[in-house]
Amino acid sequence: MDFSDTSEEAAYRAQVCAWLDANAPDRLPRTAPTSEQLRAAKDWQAKKAAAGYAQISWAKEWGGPGGTTMQNVIYNQEEGRRGLATGFFGIGLGMCIPTVIAFADEVTKKRFVGPALRGEEIWCQLFSEPAAGSDLAAVRTSAVPDGDDWVVNGQKIWTSGAHYSDYGIVVTRTNRDAPKHKGLTMFWVDMTSPGIEVRPINQMSGESGFNEVFFTDVRIPDGQRLGAVDNGWKVSLVTLMNERLSIGGGGGGADYARFMELARGQTVGDEPALAHSAFREKIADWYVRTEGMKHTRMRSLTALSRGETPGPESSIGKVVAALQALNVAECAIDMLDAYGIIDDPEISPMRGAFQSLFLGMPGLRIAGGTDEILRNIIAERVLGLPGEIRVDKDVAFKDLPAGR
Ligand SMILES: Cc1cc2nc3c(=O)[nH]c(=O)nc-3n(C[C@H](O)[C@H](O)[C@H](O)COP(=O)(O)OP(=O)(O)OC[C@H]3O[C@@H](n4cnc5c(N)ncnc54)[C@H](O)[C@@H]3O)c2cc1C
Repeated sequence: MDFSDTSEEAAYRAQVCAWLDANAPDRLPRTAPTSEQLRAAKDWQAKKAAAGYAQISWAKEWGGPGGTTMQNVIYNQEEGRRGLATGFFGIGLGMCIPTVIAFADEVTKKRFVGPALRGEEIWCQLFSEPAAGSDLAAVRTSAVPDGDDWVVNGQKIWTSGAHYSDYGIVVTRTNRDAPKHKGLTMFWVDMTSPGIEVRPINQMSGESGFNEVFFTDVRIPDGQRLGAVDNGWKVSLVTLMNERLSIGGGGGGADYARFMELARGQTVGDEPALAHSAFREKIADWYVRTEGMKHTRMRSLTALSRGETPGPESSIGKVVAALQALNVAECAIDMLDAYGIIDDPEISPMRGAFQSLFLGMPGLRIAGGTDEILRNIIAERVLGLPGEIRVDKDVAFKDLPAGR
């Protein structure tokens, strides 16, 4: 198998690199923005959109240049390499706006797609609830019709970026008599609507990237419905399917090479760390796994390059990469001994890179599908093993046992 760029891909990469070299700002923050950092990220997004590098595979009708998925991957790789990938627009452009494009009326699409593409407005995804994460169809937030509006009550949780988002898509329960997958309805919502309260959740890393969002008698006009009443499960699946297309950013935290860089300056006991057999064994394991991930990823890229869509096997990358990154970080912190617990970038080796990896990775192992859920997907849909037994499929939602 040949993993090099085709001549068209190489030409596109050269064009992207030249543009980035001429236009890219210094590194941008990935999370927890101050208003100044958010402004810098929005400016960069606007510049990308004007040059045709935002949402490269989107049709011209939606403001994209109508490029290929492979061109999108190439751009993401080059942007990622320069530390310019930010998390601020990914949920909106990768998941919410494609859902708006698929299900909203023409006026709504025209109103929202352009501003989101140019980074003028940010969107969040209000799906998870305290008792509905992996089992998304268990949502309890209710929407009750009242005239031309729906009145929404309930609680969402883990909503990334809700504290700086202008709009969101929210999945609600509209029919408790139907089985759980058949009584959901999706809406788009203005995050400044009366009755919405956003409470940031403090993380152990010191950041507050996600939030609890409370809905108290929030009125959502029926015109903001996405898809048919009680058809929200199908609409959610469109949102979640689009997540897969974000493939191609590259990088990832499983950085054994950086570990070796750190280890070069360290001793363990009287020995240089790199001469220590325990570390050498780990580095060898990480190398093998990294090569495995690279080649699995190359398979997905090859499928994209041929115009195919990568399948459920892309779940493998996240399970392996997140676990390995955590393992590398733990090992680096161990090696630093007492200095390992200092995460202050001003005094910690490598500006606390491994400490921040250690504090952030548990989240990555949960977001977008936990390790266990992804393993189930790999077992059922890649390896063809028998599926999980589902006893709640045809039972009305109101009759399902619940904690409270
Ligand atoms: C960093 C981060 C960002 C997030 N951003 C968003 C966001 O923007 N919007 C949003 O809506 N949500 C967001 N989430 C929420 C995320 O989607 C959920 O946390 C995730 O789906 C897991 O759900 P849960 O937390 O309810 O855990 P649960 O589903 O309660 O799972 C608890 C444990 O049980 C295991 N488990 C559950 N079911 C099974 C099963 N059938 N088989 C085997 N094991 C099982 C799980 O793997 C897990 O280990 C975010 C989460 C994180 C960590």
